[in-house]
Amino acid sequence: MEYEVVIGLEVHVELATNSKIFCSCSAKYGAEQNEHVCPACCGMPGMLPIVNKKVVDLGMTAGMMLNCHINRTTTFDKKNYYYPDLPGAYQTTQLFAPICVNGRVDIETSKGKKSVRIKQIHMEEDAGKLVHDDWRDLTMVDYNRTSVPLVEIVSQPDLSSAEEVVAYLERLRSLLRFAKVSDCRWEQGSMRCDVNLSVREKGSDKLGVRTEMKNMNSLAAITRAIEYETARHIDAIVNKTEELVQETRRWDDEKGKSFAMRTKETAGDYRYFPDPNVMPVVIDDVWYDRIKATLPEFPEIKKQRYMEELGLGDFDASSLVESRAFCDVFEEAYAECGLAKDVANWILKDCANLLNKKQMTADMLAIDGRALGKLIKLVADEKVGRANAKFILAEIFEGATDPEKIAEEKGFIVSNDTGLIEKVVAEIVAADPKSVADYKGGKEKAFMALFGKCMRELRGNCNPQVLRELLLKEIEKA
Ligand code: ZN
Ligand code: MN
Repeated sequence: MEYEVVIGLEVHVELATNSKIFCSCSAKYGAEQNEHVCPACCGMPGMLPIVNKKVVDLGMTAGMMLNCHINRTTTFDKKNYYYPDLPGAYQTTQLFAPICVNGRVDIETSKGKKSVRIKQIHMEEDAGKLVHDDWRDLTMVDYNRTSVPLVEIVSQPDLSSAEEVVAYLERLRSLLRFAKVSDCRWEQGSMRCDVNLSVREKGSDKLGVRTEMKNMNSLAAITRAIEYETARHIDAIVNKTEELVQETRRWDDEKGKSFAMRTKETAGDYRYFPDPNVMPVVIDDVWYDRIKATLPEFPEIKKQRYMEELGLGDFDASSLVESRAFCDVFEEAYAECGLAKDVANWILKDCANLLNKKQMTADMLAIDGRALGKLIKLVADEKVGRANAKFILAEIFEGATDPEKIAEEKGFIVSNDTGLIEKVVAEIVAADPKSVADYKGGKEKAFMALFGKCMRELRGNCNPQVLRELLLKEIEKA
């Protein structure tokens, strides 16, 4: 008998808003514990939630990127359960009229192309975080994350391998980052995925017993969890090793096993009902069209355009579309200087180096693209030397916008004064007869040493070709 696995995913994505979903507390990651809290997000009685419009903007954006239908009237519901990280003892979420329904995500794997149907996307608030202190045998609760806005993206059970799941999650991540819906960072928990999995006889139209797995923190962990859980199900069916029950399981990546957490709740257990405190959100045509107009080009279309219209190679184009920030800076700088390949080099090498030094990610590149374009033009026009231009880039990185002004202030303007160059060359050559003799004896390196000394003396403000010619001439004479 052959078996097949049927997988549906629930993906939670934290939205890139400044403030929380129903109050004005900061939604930023990484603050001191319980720094971002107020009576509303701590669930104090009598507080009235007010929907953050930006959350609806981003919910709509997510839906449009994933080919969903947008519900023009969308409402919030209470999902009731008690847990210490949920101070109000209910989560405000969407059950009856979620913001997006019926979408589609196209993926490609070694088995070919496939469409994964999206059942719905709903907006909701995140819960707080329990912090366990084993040393003091205490558990503490941090409410900073409470009411941070999320969308939950629920797929139909259309996936049938770990490879497909990974392709789907990577596609989601790429689209949502491109549309600036979320930074989608697994390691910070801004993207999390629950796996609903069942196994059935191949070709059967009946679904087997379904389990839900939580607590996978990387794509690798998700792959391991799916492989383990599939084997466990098949073993249970074939060898009757255990009875499968519908339940929620916790993945332990260190042990490489899943463990039962709780028998699966049904919707009824949560006593969902419309939240009477939150007004329905009505999305009119103006609002809908405004969001539609902000949608970015899909990354693969951008990549193709960079290659076909701007002449970039596959590697440069692929590397740029890894990051929306890279693309934005690239396009601004290109519009300024028209030198696509140069701009790609400056971003992928020099800017990437600076980001690296500051331990920032590609998405955090926030320089003025026009300033970068102007700088590249200065170098191309031989007004500023390449080495000195790097110092100017460092200033653009800190927010500077006028590279020419910096070049003037720092004395980085290339001089066309051949008299000055000749004078420097004569001095250096006269002071270093050994290098001159070495070069004449056939040592290329000796020439580079002399060249470097002259360049340093001229502070890099010199056309290398001119310097080379004048230096050769001077050595001839010596
Ligand atoms: Zn608050
Ligand atoms: Mn949820």
